[in-house]
Amino acid sequence: MIEQLPSAETVEAALLRPRHRLRMDAGLEARFDRSTVRARTTRLRHFLAFALCADILAIALDTWHGALPLGVAVRLGVVAPALLVGMLLLKSDRPSWQQGLLAGVPVLCGLVSISLIGLLLGGRYAELYLSAAGMAAFFVNAAMPLRFSHAVVLAGANVTATFAFAVMVSAPGDLVEILATLGFNAIVIVLTLPMNFGRERGNREVFLHGMRETLQGRALARANAELMRLATTDPLTGLANRRAFDARLERVALTAPQDRAWFGVLMVDIDHFKAFNDSAGHSAGDECLRAVAGTLAAEPSVTDGTVARLGGEEFAILLPGADGDAILVAGEAIRRAVEWQAIQHPGFADRRHVTVSVGASATRADGNAATGSRTLKRADEALYAAKASGRNAVSLARDIVEAAPAAAIAAA
Ligand code: GH3
Ligand code: MG
Ligand code: MG
Repeated sequence: MIEQLPSAETVEAALLRPRHRLRMDAGLEARFDRSTVRARTTRLRHFLAFALCADILAIALDTWHGALPLGVAVRLGVVAPALLVGMLLLKSDRPSWQQGLLAGVPVLCGLVSISLIGLLLGGRYAELYLSAAGMAAFFVNAAMPLRFSHAVVLAGANVTATFAFAVMVSAPGDLVEILATLGFNAIVIVLTLPMNFGRERGNREVFLHGMRETLQGRALARANAELMRLATTDPLTGLANRRAFDARLERVALTAPQDRAWFGVLMVDIDHFKAFNDSAGHSAGDECLRAVAGTLAAEPSVTDGTVARLGGEEFAILLPGADGDAILVAGEAIRRAVEWQAIQHPGFADRRHVTVSVGASATRADGNAATGSRTLKRADEALYAAKASGRNAVSLARDIVEAAPAAAIAAA
């Protein structure tokens, strides 16, 4: 299934949204989520793995500070399992809130545990651990690829829990100093949240610019296709134009010369068309051209070929695979189809119908582009002969090699 792309206007509007706005239009937001969720999940798991390493290494510091049992209990008993569960359960197909929970809660445990160990140790260690907790929170805001809303919740929960623990476990004499340090930490956390916001916004900008390029690429491809169609189509009849016909003729003449495949060309010209125009007017003449073009295009014997309007009331048909016999049969079918169409010719008193004269030629492809134009020229000469024979006739070029019929077929 081809996914519907957003409109260029939606993308441009999103690119112009105010700097402080993160969210885009709902459709774009959903597409952004889909296109980034896998990478974001991987990065979050890497971050949790890094946090797990840091958590285990920090036990060495706890030992240094004489807090081995406490460090082991908190870090290995609570934080490490939480980080492991988060890493194992984080999957890119989970809803965004679950991802936030699975990544945010273990990291929250890790951050609060640093402060908690310091608070439980008390004295000068409290200051040391609380400073470390502040730096860790700064690092989380700067490097953890959490969604901004989740990062805000994590920061709030971290500050609240740390304050609560400080009030619960600190000695009353230390409390003011500890609360001052935690206040400083809270300010650092709030001031570094914009780093997360900036990264989230940057990701959306990259996504939007990519989307803009995709849309511009598609618009360009569409414009090119339309340009190509216009360059190769006759606007009056919708048939191929001269340029397209010549290109096709050249391709057929050049293809697989070793096969020496036959191809036939018909030149078709409406009889007494000037008289039609002079009597019924130019727009009725155009109508007649369209009607004849429709008949040529619908003729079953040439459906495998290219039907083109070369200009004026002159058409050409290229029929790959047609030898002298086949092209003559096709020419006769064309002549008869137009006659049977019975378009009234206004230029004569005796209620005549519009007819065409047809010149036919065929040859074998020999890998030479000039062979195509030579065959067209022969068909044109044959057309002249058909006109000379009285019009409403099909004439085959005389010098067709290996062609059975030698004579022109004159219409009854
Ligand atoms: P013949 O049987 O020998 O082919 O005679 P004819 O009158 O058909 O040929 P001639 O070349 O004398 O006249 C062709 C006419 O086709 C002249 C011109 O008015 C008309 N014509 C050329 N292009 C257009 C067109 O785009 N629309 C209309 N309505 N007429 C056109
Ligand atoms: Mg004519
Ligand atoms: Mg003509």
